[in-house]
Amino acid sequence: MMDLQFDRDHLWHPYSNLSSPALTFPVVSAEGVRLKLADGRELIDGMSSWWACIHGYQVPELNAALHRQSEQMAHVMFGSLTHEPAIRLGQHLLAINDDALSQVFFADSGSVAVEAAMKMAAQYCHAQGMSQKKRFMTFRSGYHGDTFGAMSVCDPVNGMHHMFSRLLNQHHFIDPPRCGFDDAWDDVYIEPFKKALERHHEETIAVIFEPIVQGVGGMFFYHPEYLRQIRSLCDEYGVLLIFDEIATGFGRTGKMFAYQHAGVVPDILCLGKALTGGYMTLSAVLCQPHVGHGMGGNFMHGPTFMANPLACAVASASIDLLLAKDWQSEVQSLSDQLRKGIAPCADLPGVAATRVLGAIAVVEMENPVDVDRLIAAFVDAGVWVRPFSNLIYLMPPYIMQTPDTEALCGSLYSVIKNNPNTQ
Ligand SMILES: *Cc1c(COP(=O)(O)O)cnc(C)c1O
Repeated sequence: MMDLQFDRDHLWHPYSNLSSPALTFPVVSAEGVRLKLADGRELIDGMSSWWACIHGYQVPELNAALHRQSEQMAHVMFGSLTHEPAIRLGQHLLAINDDALSQVFFADSGSVAVEAAMKMAAQYCHAQGMSQKKRFMTFRSGYHGDTFGAMSVCDPVNGMHHMFSRLLNQHHFIDPPRCGFDDAWDDVYIEPFKKALERHHEETIAVIFEPIVQGVGGMFFYHPEYLRQIRSLCDEYGVLLIFDEIATGFGRTGKMFAYQHAGVVPDILCLGKALTGGYMTLSAVLCQPHVGHGMGGNFMHGPTFMANPLACAVASASIDLLLAKDWQSEVQSLSDQLRKGIAPCADLPGVAATRVLGAIAVVEMENPVDVDRLIAAFVDAGVWVRPFSNLIYLMPPYIMQTPDTEALCGSLYSVIKNNPNTQ
């Protein structure tokens, strides 16, 4: 038996409180699109373990890559050594991204990738004689991770970090995108950003935001024209552009990368989450050559586990697996089923809106939900769904088949129907 009392007394879970531990469910294994609980119940997974497990669990190709690599070497320092898994993964990442992105920095997690990207941009500006630049610019309602640099560009109020604001560097925050992905574009939408950049470009190191999908900050899907206009404004004013694709990368929005909806390329790109197919933590920062070669010397960043061979080998296997199948059709068909499946939720009391983009489905409630109560109701209904605030959302593994998607959406409907106003 698992010692769940120990878990409650001694282990922190994400965003949790040791004094009043949140509900947790013991899981013993996972396979395909199902998580198996210690009591034998199986849950259809609607979360992909936070955007990561795009191929589901116990993927034979990824297991094989992990075993093969573990018999060569699990890890070796990347300082003054190099290895095939890192080189292959670097080649893979450049091959699936725009040709303009040509340099790769490997890091351990999404937050660290954001730190490295911000540092890279700052060092570039310094080396280019623009030392007066000292701030970043970003949208409100953004999320970029939990470390100090990343926190400083998260939403200053709702970004989970407001209690640290006096310890953080102060950056420029712009009203978040309002024009939805499918809405009619009007140039007034870009005005707040344009005005801010006009006013502050001389001190702005870089603009950083999540392209197309604002994740934790509202699960809002916005118009690709924002990306095009911001790219051209950044070019006009000589300000670097950083896209945080940690959540959206590797097909989730229907394109391999969300920036491809707009046909523009950032100077610096952050990847993470689904990079290893959800097997282990790894992230990457890609940049264009003018950044990579314009930094005036060594880039002073070098995580101990940089380019960990196990993680790199699994990541390459995950990309191979994605490319070996018609993943666009897979994501499209999942998208169609999700759209059909959550449509009835729109008429339920307490529901403010529903929306789908790629393999992401969102039911936005009018009020914040009682998260633990809803999670428990979802588990009773046989599905794994973890809402936050007023957002109940699904982002299943791409391999999910129609009957499971229908069961997942059916449970979503009945749980929302039975819990119209939980808080
Ligand atoms: C999850 C996430 C991060 C942070 O990644 P970690 O691996 O949790 O550090 C950063 N940016 C975005 C957009 C994310 O979704």
